[in-house]
Amino acid sequence: MLGPVILAASRSDRMRRLVSAAPVTKQVVDRFIPGEDVDAIVPIIRDLTGQGLELTMDVVGEDITTPAQAAAARDAYLELIDRLKPLDLGPRAEMSVKLSMFGQALDGGHELALANVRPVVEAAAGIGTTVTLDAEDHTTLDSMFAIHGELRKDFPQTGCVIQAYLFRTEADARRLAAEGSRVRLVKGAYKEPAEVAHQDKHEIDKAYVRVLRTLMQGEGYPMIGSHDPRLITIAQDLAHRAGRKPDEYEFQMLYGIRGDEHLRLAAEGHRMRVYTAYGTDWYGYFMRRLAEKPANLRFFVRSMIGH
Ligand code: FAD
Repeated sequence: MLGPVILAASRSDRMRRLVSAAPVTKQVVDRFIPGEDVDAIVPIIRDLTGQGLELTMDVVGEDITTPAQAAAARDAYLELIDRLKPLDLGPRAEMSVKLSMFGQALDGGHELALANVRPVVEAAAGIGTTVTLDAEDHTTLDSMFAIHGELRKDFPQTGCVIQAYLFRTEADARRLAAEGSRVRLVKGAYKEPAEVAHQDKHEIDKAYVRVLRTLMQGEGYPMIGSHDPRLITIAQDLAHRAGRKPDEYEFQMLYGIRGDEHLRLAAEGHRMRVYTAYGTDWYGYFMRRLAEKPANLRFFVRSMIGH
């Protein structure tokens, strides 16, 4: 029951100010967002890739309100790509972007987001890697998929995310699988109404398996974005049945969640990509992590009381 309340709070400016100013918040935030700027994150990139893990990097931020902020978001990614260049990691470090941070919700936002994300995709290709477009709330997805299609004309490796909780996703998966896309499948992290999304955890898991089967049997490259041990076992089985080799799909998990499992899957010979977020505008990302696991919230509240 707590999850939806926290997700509603994730959109409240008042809560944002309260949580961001709480004296101990930073300590708790660090578990999920291990750096505030590119200087802090480069050693972490070296450390994780040194352990045989691959990365997808997220400069946190979303729901910006001016074109200047959207341009700043683009520039933050360009700076990151510049810093990745000498590390020579190629596709082992890719980028994840939220189009809302590139201006998608502003006036003329679809064109603005496309204009801002294109140079990032180009720069990523310049260092031998790629970009995945994250999935945000359901109202943004037609625009996201259109931008994905546009970018794929020049950069076919550009990936996108689909969310098992949405009813539309089974059809999206069939289309994307036939087009040979790189697709990350996740359960879904936003508060969505019953008209568009499954609300029951069990139904979401069942939908996840159906969609994953479509992706595994298709022409694309499936990226399994989940920490759920049951789904990870099912994914291995579906990959095996579809005759996929270990380099024909990958697992993805979030930094700070089930770290031992990241290393275990990598040691077993799987491609394991860690979604690593950094930056100062961490509020929305952090609140979604709290909503996913109420124990995180209890830990957060306890640490505030104990302070
Ligand atoms: P759950 O059933 O939620 O969790 C399974 C187990 O994992 C839990 O029992 C617990 O042990 C552990 N766990 C899960 N979450 C947490 C947590 N926050 N803290 C501590 N332990 C936890 N969602 C989107 O809507 N759009 C995106 O673009 C998107 N990108 C993602 C990228 C990656 C790589 C991953 C892994 C997730 C992404 N998500 C995205 C979030 C996703 O939708 C889920 O909210 C999140 O992954 C939790 O679902 P789960 O599959 O891990 O299963």
